[in-house]
Amino acid sequence: MTANILDGKAIAAELRQTIKVKVAERVASGERAPGLAVVLVGQDPASEVYVRNKRRSCEEVGFYSESHDLSADASQESLLALIDTLNAKDEIDGILVQLPLPDHIDEEAVIERILPTKDVDGFHPYNVGRLTLKMPILRPCTPKGVMTMLKKTGQKLEGMDAVIIGQSNIVGRPMAMELLAERCTITICHSRTKDLEQKVRNADVVVAAVGRANFVPGEWIKKGAIVIDVGINRLDTGKLAGDVDFEGCKENASWITPVPGGVGPMTIATLLENTLQAAELHSEVAE
Ligand code: NAD
Repeated sequence: MTANILDGKAIAAELRQTIKVKVAERVASGERAPGLAVVLVGQDPASEVYVRNKRRSCEEVGFYSESHDLSADASQESLLALIDTLNAKDEIDGILVQLPLPDHIDEEAVIERILPTKDVDGFHPYNVGRLTLKMPILRPCTPKGVMTMLKKTGQKLEGMDAVIIGQSNIVGRPMAMELLAERCTITICHSRTKDLEQKVRNADVVVAAVGRANFVPGEWIKKGAIVIDVGINRLDTGKLAGDVDFEGCKENASWITPVPGGVGPMTIATLLENTLQAAELHSEVAE
């Protein structure tokens, strides 16, 4: 068996096109374009690349966007004051603060300062809580993007055994809630998990979000399983690699996401989707 490739680049392009059309319709009907503020603190090279891509995508779909670049030694107070300004600004529907933040800034305090209706990353405890209670509004982008991709397989997820490797707040945990909402039986694995191999061998869906190149070998994958690779790892050669051994896993999986060109582009497209959703929510409130 050779797996079908879940082409995140193509699915993301399709999603951006749908968003672009909706934005054009919105503007034609007299509403303002959705607005996204992207805040970057410091000069982490990987963050700079992500932020540049996010800003470029905003332009592509016709959003209004603002860039706020703060120096690495910016104080927490100045960042919180900027968030307060953006929270109060009518043109801004979404506020994205690129993580990680420098050590002297309390990430949780920053996330909690963003108005939940402008929390387009879906990281605010309010939005995480709503997802957990099966009443989501703004959902974390990476897991939501994965769900969009899983729908494209046409497979019925209900009843499947899903194993998620990684328990972070931005990927593993919300991913588990997304799959549970689709009635999968979920197992969340992490660095203290015993006998990970056996758990992965039983899985119908494997989501790897560890941050270690080629961590999941092909022989762990059950025949016909769906493999979602969230990992982005820079190899010594400069090339990007995921958390799963793509060539090996492809032999057993029914569907698999590549790296690059899999989950990564979906995360950014989903951020745009969330910003449009936030704009629609704000318009409803204003009516
Ligand atoms: P993280 O470091 O916060 O979490 C890693 C998780 O892996 C932890 O929960 C840890 O317990 C688990 N882990 C570590 N060693 C393990 C082991 N031996 N066995 C089982 N579990 C183990 O990372 P994160 O922020 O969730 O990101 C994970 C990966 O996904 C990274 O490569 C990151 O770059 C990537 N990522 C990609 C996207 C995207 O859009 N594609 C978005 C976010 C993160």
